[in-house]
Amino acid sequence: MKKKIALLGSTGSIGRQTLEVADALGLAVCALSAGSNIRLIEEQARKYSPAVVAVYEEAAACDLAVRLRDTQVKVVSGLNGQIEAARIKDADTVVTAVVGTVGLLPTLTAIEEKKRIALANKETLVCAGEQVMRAAEASGAEILPVDSEHSAIFQCLHGSGKTYEKILLTASGGPFRGKSPGELEKVTVRDALCHPSWNMGRKITVDSATLMNKGLEFIEAMHLYSARPDQIDILIHPQSIVHSMVAFSDRSVIAQLSVPDMRLPIQYALTYPERQPSLTPELDLAGIGALTFENPDLKTFKCLALAQETAKIRGTACAVMNAANETAVALFLEDKISFTRIYECVLLALDRIKNIEDPSVEDILASDGEARRIVLEYYG
Ligand code: NDP
Ligand code: MG
Repeated sequence: MKKKIALLGSTGSIGRQTLEVADALGLAVCALSAGSNIRLIEEQARKYSPAVVAVYEEAAACDLAVRLRDTQVKVVSGLNGQIEAARIKDADTVVTAVVGTVGLLPTLTAIEEKKRIALANKETLVCAGEQVMRAAEASGAEILPVDSEHSAIFQCLHGSGKTYEKILLTASGGPFRGKSPGELEKVTVRDALCHPSWNMGRKITVDSATLMNKGLEFIEAMHLYSARPDQIDILIHPQSIVHSMVAFSDRSVIAQLSVPDMRLPIQYALTYPERQPSLTPELDLAGIGALTFENPDLKTFKCLALAQETAKIRGTACAVMNAANETAVALFLEDKISFTRIYECVLLALDRIKNIEDPSVEDILASDGEARRIVLEYYG
């Protein structure tokens, strides 16, 4: 039977690549969603004829409804619209490729509906990893990672259950690898958006430049693979060919390699447990020549060190860190704060907001809102 997907965040980098994969695999698309880009989502809606299209911004959704009057597509808006797209009955898999905490409630809804979740939206696991994993266990919904490192870890663990010693999480190092703290003070938005190996959305590209992305992935890996913080080592690997590794008790280390191309982990999350021919070019190791590894510079890239420390605190701390980072990155992208101020914003929110142990989803969303308010009050 033809597999059917609901795709949240279809206009983004992961969203567009998911549609390329869906075309190649011949999947049906029964729901699409975006924040406000109605020009692109209209095109996608006309091509895929989904039952539902969700656009977060009300005014944009109204415009889209007018534009799609000649079709059968139902246009919905707001957070409830995103949730409606996530619970659409026909879909067996929900691809969560929106950016930010806005992905949390739609993901929890899809879990309740026992969908397979192809999870790209790492912020969901960072802010509410325990709640999400618990909900998935209760409903029996499968969560398959789309993030390339976590897909690699998932593949390295096949056949070993969770009995590993360590996860070796690789990182390209971003555009500022080798820079000093003083040099980081002067970098511009344009510099931060020039990632050496991946072409991604703006928020994750800045996160990759501060290395906060690796901090978020550290927390994502803890939740997906029940890892303690001391079981995850971060390795800088500038070639971005080894997507991560797992070390076992007998000292074997298993790695997953490919050219850097997100269409591969996206496809694996959709076809698992099968492997199918993909759009990814063949890996030419002799052409690449050398694969190198080094430790991260935690003194210069303070966001990574801060995330690793925050990961040890149970409760709402990770949600606060994540929300403060999202807000700070948006301010940096608007040229309102400097690159190094991003770290200061996150630190400020963590200092000001009291941690709630064993929080509910409502506590998490409230702490998320408070972190955003504090950062905007001081730096907005
Ligand atoms: P993009 O910025 O390219 O795309 C973000 C998507 O989210 C767009 O479709 C955007 O819609 C949508 N969106 C934004 N705000 C809202 C909202 N309020 N409600 C609903 N939808 C919204 O990001 P990426 O595709 O790069 O990243 C998406 C997620 O995947 C992130 O969590 C990221 O960390 C993760 N990821 C990305 C990788 C990559 O290679 N890009 C790799 C691994 C993980 P609109 O276009 O209308 O703004
Ligand atoms: Mg990644």
